[in-house]
Amino acid sequence: MTRSVFTLPSMDTPIASRALATEAVHAGRDDLARQGLHAPPIDLSTTYPSYDSRGEAARIDAFAATGAEPDGAPVYARLGNPTVARFETALARLEGTESAVAFASGMAALSAVLLVRGSMGLRHVVAVRPLYGCSDHLLTAGLLGSEVTWTDPAGIADALRPDTGLVMVESPANPTLAELDLRAVAHACGSVPLLADNTFATPVLQRPAEQGARLVLHSATKYLGGHGDVMAGVVACDEEFARRLRQVRFATGGVLHPLAGYLLLRGLSTLPVRVRAASANAAELARRLAADPRVARVHYPRIGGAMIAFEVLGDPHAVIGGVRLITPAVSLGSVDTLIQHPASISHRIVDADDRRGAGVSDRLLRMSVGLEDVDDLWADLDRALGERVSPPQQRTAAARG
Ligand SMILES: *Cc1c(COP(=O)(O)O)cnc(C)c1O
Repeated sequence: MTRSVFTLPSMDTPIASRALATEAVHAGRDDLARQGLHAPPIDLSTTYPSYDSRGEAARIDAFAATGAEPDGAPVYARLGNPTVARFETALARLEGTESAVAFASGMAALSAVLLVRGSMGLRHVVAVRPLYGCSDHLLTAGLLGSEVTWTDPAGIADALRPDTGLVMVESPANPTLAELDLRAVAHACGSVPLLADNTFATPVLQRPAEQGARLVLHSATKYLGGHGDVMAGVVACDEEFARRLRQVRFATGGVLHPLAGYLLLRGLSTLPVRVRAASANAAELARRLAADPRVARVHYPRIGGAMIAFEVLGDPHAVIGGVRLITPAVSLGSVDTLIQHPASISHRIVDADDRRGAGVSDRLLRMSVGLEDVDDLWADLDRALGERVSPPQQRTAAARG
């Protein structure tokens, strides 16, 4: 009986530098052909038999001391899982980091980062609004004992304190698609780790680690999974931080299920194609919205992407109630197009004044553009926007960015 089933795909395998599209379909699978496999195996074991309890004790000690991935069988599924490790390997390669650590959701991933820093006595967080609504809430409410200072990018350096353990930003940000200069922000952080939430851009459009972010966070529920059927989170980072994250994941239990790990690895293989195709649709819809008299303002990122935010002159709730092809639902990053009203749904949990102060207007709609035909999408949106009340020449604002 071979033990190769327990061989985790190694991060150190020397692989010549490969393009993103190649990594997307091959990373995390490099050992498969040698094993006589094509599709990655799904290992659903919660426990791993061992007749050598001394050896197992040594593996437990090693994990407790270092947080390094167990050598050989993981002992127990909370320490690690070979199928999930394939996804982690692949995502790390796409983001250009040494390692990645996967969690049960994006919020579980952010929680683990806060716990790592908090356990080192570094409870203070500096953050830039807007952030995803629940990230804002987690920090504002101090649910994990952290204390947050909100600032703008120019104020980051001045907001740092001796106990600052983290600087957190999103770019493009949820839901306004506001962008910031990650390189300049990373510089302002000095030695404090910068966490960049890269959920919206994905490594296809932006690799924050190359710009100085020490931690790259994803709600893998969104584009990485890409089909609206997996909930997951992941942090791409250096191996030193990854070890701390694995120790926290082991102790707090926010592990990713192996079936989700499998679906995410499969999702990554089409990520570049999906993101590029959906972005082309989104760019065209942003152009049509910007030229539409019923739309006050369109936010579309300079780096592109499949997300659009726009402010309507009329009632945003009527647009949500009026779509038929587009799905009125929170979340994003799926193959189909979703639209939602951030002030009512995704950012409801943020205090109304803070929300508006971060640029989240009550008339803002956020749309995650999918892979449908762009003319079908426009026909649906056009109908949902309702009557054209004013002639085109009375248009009040143009597209931004
Ligand atoms: C959805 C989202 C999260 C939270 O991720 P979950 O997987 O829902 O826990 C974090 N950041 C951003 C930008 C998101 O869109």
